Formats: sequence, C-alpha cells, structure tokens
Amino acid sequence: MTTRPEVRREIERLLRDGLTNREVAKLTGVHPVTVSSLRRALGIPPWRPPEPEHGTRQRARRCDCEACRAAQSRYVAEKSRERKRKNKAMPAERRAALAEHRDLVRRETSQAATVRGPWRAEEIALALDYRHSALEIAQRLGRSITAVNAARARYGKRPTTLPYRPKRHKEDGDQ
Ligand SMILES: [Zn+2]
Repeated sequence: MTTRPEVRREIERLLRDGLTNREVAKLTGVHPVTVSSLRRALGIPPWRPPEPEHGTRQRARRCDCEACRAAQSRYVAEKSRERKRKNKAMPAERRAALAEHRDLVRRETSQAATVRGPWRAEEIALALDYRHSALEIAQRLGRSITAVNAARARYGKRPTTLPYRPKRHKEDGDQ
C-alpha cells in the first residue's frame, strides 16, 4: 500500500465523518479495497445506515417512545381505513366469492382440526405437486389447507415449470 500520508489522513477524516467506503474511494480516488482495509486498520466500525427518526414506523419497531407509538397507531388506523374503503369498493359478487372461500377454508380446517403429526415423505411429495390445488391435497391427506400451504412454504419453492420433481429434504428420511 503506497497511499501518501496526507491522503491517508484525508481518508481517515472522511471515514470518521461517517462516509461509506465507496464514497471515500470516489472522493479521494483511492481503490475501495484500500479504503476498507484502512478503515479496519484504524479501528473505525463498519458503516451503518443512520437510524430512522423517532416518530416513524421504521423506528417504532425498535422503540417504545411516545412519538414512535403514535406513529405506529397512526399507521394501523390508516391501514384499517384503507381496508374498509377497499371492501366497500369491492363488487358484491367478488365479496360473496371471498366469503364463500373463507367458509370453505373454515369447514376444511375444522374437519382437519386434529393434529395429524409430522409430515411423511409421501405427503410432502404430494404437497409439492403443484398440479393439484392446496384444497385438493388437503382433502386427500385429511389435513387443513393452511397446513398444506405451510408445508409448501417449508419444504419447497413453487416451481416455474411443470412437471416438477420435489427437491429432497433432510426430513424426508426421518420417519
Ligand atoms: Zn422513538
């Protein structure tokens, strides 16, 4: 490393001012790798994005102050108003179709309310066969649609093309 001392001092100043390695590299014309090793050598902690302001929802996730709590409840209230607006705007037949689907899921779920235990390999393979709907598979296995969807999320990704061979999963051999 043949960085001149005055350039090194400038880099150090910029790093301590909170600039990123990339920004410092650009400003000083020094390679980013040099900047980052200089940062390490100087013991300056890696760059972190600044904390969001108090009173924003992003901050509310980590903060319990009054401003953050107020921001969070404003957000929840706005979301609920939005949902109501959308529901009102929805045509009656779509609303009916959604309600019917909810009923179907509820019936299906209550029939399969008993816990069926861990998924066996054949069941997983069937769940990951996307030629069948989650409902069909739930009915065949006597499990709930929710359980089938959860299994799909847990054991595999939705394929982009068919036919699809489910990827082997560690738990396949367990039972
Ligand atoms: Zn706060």
